Amino acid sequence: MDLSKSNSNSENIGIVIIGAGIAGLAAAVTLEKSNYRDYKLIEAQDHVGGRICSIPHNNGWLEKGAQFLHGNESTLGQLAQELGLISDEHVGEGEGLYLQENGAEMNKDLILEVDDIVKNILEDCEKFANNIDIEHNDVEDNIGNVLESRFYKYLKMKNDPIFVRNAKEEIYDWNIRFLIIDNACNSLENLSVKSWGKFKAVNGPEHNIFESHYSSIVDYLVGELNQDNLILNTPVTKVEWDDSNELTYNKPVTITLQNKKIISADCVIITCSLGFLKESQLTFFSPLLPKPHRTAIENLGFGLINKIYLDFDEPWWEPHIKGFQFLWKLSKNEENNPLRKKLAPWVYDLTGFDVVQNHKAVLLGWIGGKGAQIIETLSESQVIQDCKILFRYFLKNDSLPEANKCIKSCWGSNRYFKGSYSHITKKCDITGVSPATLAEPIWGKRIKNNLHENLPILMFAGEATHENYYSTTHGAYDTGVKQANIFLKHFVTK
Ligand SMILES: Cc1cc2nc3c(=O)[nH]c(=O)nc-3n(C[C@H](O)[C@H](O)[C@H](O)COP(=O)(O)OP(=O)(O)OC[C@H]3O[C@@H](n4cnc5c(N)ncnc54)[C@H](O)[C@@H]3O)c2cc1C
Repeated sequence: MDLSKSNSNSENIGIVIIGAGIAGLAAAVTLEKSNYRDYKLIEAQDHVGGRICSIPHNNGWLEKGAQFLHGNESTLGQLAQELGLISDEHVGEGEGLYLQENGAEMNKDLILEVDDIVKNILEDCEKFANNIDIEHNDVEDNIGNVLESRFYKYLKMKNDPIFVRNAKEEIYDWNIRFLIIDNACNSLENLSVKSWGKFKAVNGPEHNIFESHYSSIVDYLVGELNQDNLILNTPVTKVEWDDSNELTYNKPVTITLQNKKIISADCVIITCSLGFLKESQLTFFSPLLPKPHRTAIENLGFGLINKIYLDFDEPWWEPHIKGFQFLWKLSKNEENNPLRKKLAPWVYDLTGFDVVQNHKAVLLGWIGGKGAQIIETLSESQVIQDCKILFRYFLKNDSLPEANKCIKSCWGSNRYFKGSYSHITKKCDITGVSPATLAEPIWGKRIKNNLHENLPILMFAGEATHENYYSTTHGAYDTGVKQANIFLKHFVTK
């Protein structure tokens, strides 16, 4: 089959980059910097940035997607700093009042004690990937089980009075909800212990924020591109590639766009989210991807978290309060507590609400698990009502106002994301795949002047392909740069 077609609705170019999120933009800018212009960056939606998504609000910005730039020694961190885009302010997460169901504030020492226990258990899990012995049984296990068994061992050993033990369990439960959100997984039982230490933190403050908004780095990258090469509003519907062992012609990849246009290229970099790939890989690629790539797409995890912003116009809380965290009683009897009857089922998957920097009357709630799915189906006014009942329940104050406006993300129902970000599952260990498997270029062989050469024809980039910085913007950025450089090495600098 000769895939190189030529008619008015077709085009031959060097390389196509699918998706103008931070990975696709990084790839395109890398080509530009090498004065390579024979590329197209094709984006399905009417805007760039993907899961970096700042929206204007009250003379400022709110982030529907990425919130923090973690560390400042990554390539993206350094770039953002050189450009003066990073704020001097460092913020935290999950701060403020830890509220119990009886309206009381939780004892701060107990919060710190339980946080430390959880942190220590997770640091122990990291040691496995770093070849430091941990209990053998744990390695075969998942993060959820290891945390639970070690935490209850600690509780037993402490033998605290019952009310202290109950309080510690409530704080532990908050930590579990926090970790489910942090890792964008439905359950900590899906997370591999063996691979836990693969994720590396970048040096520097963990929660950098942008002076203005996250998309300011996206705007800068777009400004570095030849604007004719960026195509918005144009979903790619099919990627056909030549899997024969010997490429007898150039342009072994054919990309079909929704507008029926066909582009033939030497190579394609695919930066679509893992969620999109999970749903589409069997119809999107022809022939199917090689087995390792298919297995990686199937077994790497991709979960859903969402954000809820509540704007009250005027804060009803004291200026020093940084947020409200919710602690639930855990005993089975509580499920029948009549006071809980008015609460919406999804609120149990929130950790709490943080006061948003630069927006004194706006609260941001993070939600994972089933609740993250449920809120996508609700109207904004329903979410406002459900939150009003929740705040009144915890603060024991029936005159607290309801929010005037709610803005919520819906990362799961957008067909170009189908979730929020990736994690490494136990199934990855069993099937022997990791983000690096997906990052491995798919090669074609070409005979030129009687010499065989290997050329990358399909390459994946994006957050789910970074072995150590998966799930982050700085990781996604690096993968785009890396794959573009592999292309340049084989097609340009030879
Ligand atoms: C709620 C939330 C909070 C987060 N918080 C943080 C944080 O604090 N810090 C952090 O570092 N990271 C955070 N992340 C993760 C971070 O946003 C992502 O890791 C990163 O932005 C992913 O970039 P990407 O280029 O890999 O993918 P994407 O941003 O998903 O870009 C891929 C692009 O491909 C396009 N596309 C998909 N399919 C097609 C197709 N068929 N044809 C054409 N185009 C297509 C999509 O529209 C999209 O624009 C968060 C994410 C979410 C959702």
